[in-house]
Amino acid sequence: MVKIPEQNSPTIAKLFAVYEAKKDEPREHLGASEIGRECDREIWLRWRHALPPSFDGRMKRLFNTGTREETRVISDLRAAGLEVCDFDSSGRQIRFEALAGMFGGSVDGMVRGLVECPEKWHVLEIKTHNEKSFRDLVSKGVEKSKPAHYAQMQVYMGLSEVDRAFCVAVNKNTDEIWGERVRFEKKDFDSLMDRAEKIIKRDSAPEKLSQDPSFWICKMCGFHGMCHGHTVAQVNCRTCVHGYANKGWRCGLVDDLTTKPCDQHLHNPDLMSLKKSDKRTEDMEAIFYEKDGKEIAEVSKGAQPTPGIPQYSSMELHEMSLSDDSWVAVGSEAHTKTRDYFGGRFTKNGE
Ligand code: SF4
Ligand code: SF4
Repeated sequence: MVKIPEQNSPTIAKLFAVYEAKKDEPREHLGASEIGRECDREIWLRWRHALPPSFDGRMKRLFNTGTREETRVISDLRAAGLEVCDFDSSGRQIRFEALAGMFGGSVDGMVRGLVECPEKWHVLEIKTHNEKSFRDLVSKGVEKSKPAHYAQMQVYMGLSEVDRAFCVAVNKNTDEIWGERVRFEKKDFDSLMDRAEKIIKRDSAPEKLSQDPSFWICKMCGFHGMCHGHTVAQVNCRTCVHGYANKGWRCGLVDDLTTKPCDQHLHNPDLMSLKKSDKRTEDMEAIFYEKDGKEIAEVSKGAQPTPGIPQYSSMELHEMSLSDDSWVAVGSEAHTKTRDYFGGRFTKNGE
């Protein structure tokens, strides 16, 4: 009999590939779930859609596990006799927003009938945790242990004008459940709203949380390559120097934004990993940067070439920045001359 190899079946990889193939659309708004994060810069980069979410199939399935657990907990609460509203009258998740829809999010539900406070409605927030995270929560409480979750609840309470929340935490290892009530704190809410507004409206990137690439929060952050490496932001209207926030995302050049960036895109210089050149100022068609002691230009379509300066489209710079080998070549006049001779364009790894 042929021995079955002792390795994970390739069928499992196929299963995860289904999750991986699911496209994540970026959020149009800044989510309440993000506003309590440690780093202002990370929140700003997320709001600006600086990089696409890059979760593998396993992680996407894990998120799905969290969503499934929410449904289960709501069903458990109802079975225990509590009243839970998890959808509005049009069948959508109950949503609260502010700043002309640019900030907000959807609650997991509103719950009434808690044993310790039967009459009052509470904002319901359900989270899953691994063993370590769960123990930390139980020992310190949600405000100290999970400040981002605490902030999310403060925002939902403030926007819904409900003065209490009920946080349900499920231990994924043991199925223990921890419930904690949280009171509305106006001071915290005001400061979170202020933080959201400032981040949404600012054109420049907030300071880095740390200049040290090995700082533990930076090491775990999806923007590590932008803050501590050479990654250039992706190309979309949120990363464009002509875009700005005003009751939604607007453009200084185009009245009606479509979902796709136009060929006038130039990166907001704070979303580049290069220093802007002191010698030249940007105009509507080109922004100049320094790389390895030389000047390069990022140009929009139709820009007049500047003799002696290698020039690139914003998409070329983004794609080349994703590969160390390609990035080394940025700034080489010989490379750009060859590209122009053949009428080509640079891509990641020369694909
Ligand atoms: S890498 Fe560090 S500084 Fe940059 S966004 Fe992430 S946490 Fe903030
Ligand atoms: S110039 Fe083009 S890419 Fe830039 S914000 Fe306007 S429409 Fe978007």
